[in-house]
Amino acid sequence: MMKILFVTSEVYPLIKTGGLADVSGSLPIALKSLGHDIRILIPGYPSALAQGAFEWVEAIPGTKTPKLQKGLLPGTQVPVLAFIDDIHFGRPGNPYLGPDGLPWPDNAERFSTFCHLATDLAMDRLGLDWKPDIVHCNDWQTGLIPALLNDEINRPATVFTIHNLAYQGTFSHDMFLKLRLPLRFWSPNALEFYGQMSFIKGGLVFADRISTVSPTYAREIQGAEFGCGLEGLLTHRSAKLSGILNGIDMADWNPASDPYLPVHFDREHLPQRQEAKALLQTAFGLPIAAKTPLLAWVGRLVEQKGIDLLVDLLPRLMALPLQIVLIGSGDSRFEQSLQHWTKLFPDKFALRLGYDEARARLVEAGTDLFLMPSRFEPCGLNQMYSQRYGAIPLVRRAGGLADTVVDADAVALKEGTATGLLFKEATPEALYDAIERALALYQKPSVWRAIQKSGMARDFSWALSAQQYVELYAEADHDRQT
Ligand code: ADP
Repeated sequence: MMKILFVTSEVYPLIKTGGLADVSGSLPIALKSLGHDIRILIPGYPSALAQGAFEWVEAIPGTKTPKLQKGLLPGTQVPVLAFIDDIHFGRPGNPYLGPDGLPWPDNAERFSTFCHLATDLAMDRLGLDWKPDIVHCNDWQTGLIPALLNDEINRPATVFTIHNLAYQGTFSHDMFLKLRLPLRFWSPNALEFYGQMSFIKGGLVFADRISTVSPTYAREIQGAEFGCGLEGLLTHRSAKLSGILNGIDMADWNPASDPYLPVHFDREHLPQRQEAKALLQTAFGLPIAAKTPLLAWVGRLVEQKGIDLLVDLLPRLMALPLQIVLIGSGDSRFEQSLQHWTKLFPDKFALRLGYDEARARLVEAGTDLFLMPSRFEPCGLNQMYSQRYGAIPLVRRAGGLADTVVDADAVALKEGTATGLLFKEATPEALYDAIERALALYQKPSVWRAIQKSGMARDFSWALSAQQYVELYAEADHDRQT
């Protein structure tokens, strides 16, 4: 049994902006069920605290005031510790962005304070009488922890997981000085990155082990195209870098019981899925049309996700007999052009700007085709949710998408292993060709159903990946000791 402190800036269902929250809300459950003593640490955002029954942690007399509240991850026995710091985290809204859509100006101070607190907790200096064997850090917001812990005697082992290398937490040299970090951290061998301070480098340089969320992405980030300037460092540390595919919470994401869904179905009852399609069309104000192929998009409207490829294609797609529904938010230029197209084709294209969990799930349950033309995708979750819900994913061959979707090529179709469609180039033409290929398959209902059923039969549970993390923790612990 290992004691694990899992440090994250978001965790579903308490606070979520993306896939990191899903991982943080499900991997710890799987690790706990393997018998490990795992505790999650998050910043105490008011909206997160409001969703769980949190209470103050009592300090052992004579120790520092912990500034911690404790609760349970809703519906589980996994303890969550929340760092209470009103100045830095006692504000409503997005964890990273202010109401103007820009990063909070004090993000460096906010997450530096969080990392210091996590370090104190990891060294059992907060009176909890609990010292983890492993500190598992996630993304740049936690990047300073391995750096700070590196200086400690008798420290826990550290693992740093990259959920998206494109977000690095870089700040000015002035900010570095303001944070009062050890001055030796200002070095290319530590946090300095082309004249700036990089939080993520704290994890990449100092963690005993680095992981990312798919084997393909682990390879991709060691090259210039996806390495975001860190490919040299990652190649240097490649012996310590591995890719472990994210799982999904198969109980939560289950079309047979999902409480968000108005109708339920499974792979033996696919005709009931038609009802979900009709409800989805209705929810989006589109005409109910059982035989019209329905395409969908859920996600951030940013270039990473290839939304520009879809926007580019809309004029051509609107000429085809199909419907498209889209939920997302992101760059305003994409939001505006999407709005423009819904006005032109209200019967074919419907849009919901913003974050909407219930609708996102109805989309997975009701759409025929789920589009994910990402330029890069560390793992991606939606393509797994889609397969589970009988929506056929159409994805770019990148990162975790390449590792989780089996293309409907002639061999896979013959062998019955196809679960989706993949395309290679990040161009509107390649996306269009893939959509045409999908529409041709849609005209063959028995083939379509077979692809749906293979996807629905796949096991994307955390069981295997959680076991791989346990092995990674053991390796990190071994490396720390040597
Ligand atoms: P990323 O973490 O890069 O945004 P992922 O596919 O890994 O992408 O995870 C995205 C998660 O966030 C999925 O659970 C997806 O359903 C959800 N999601 C993204 N945008 C929205 C939205 N606008 N409304 C509801 N859910 C969303």
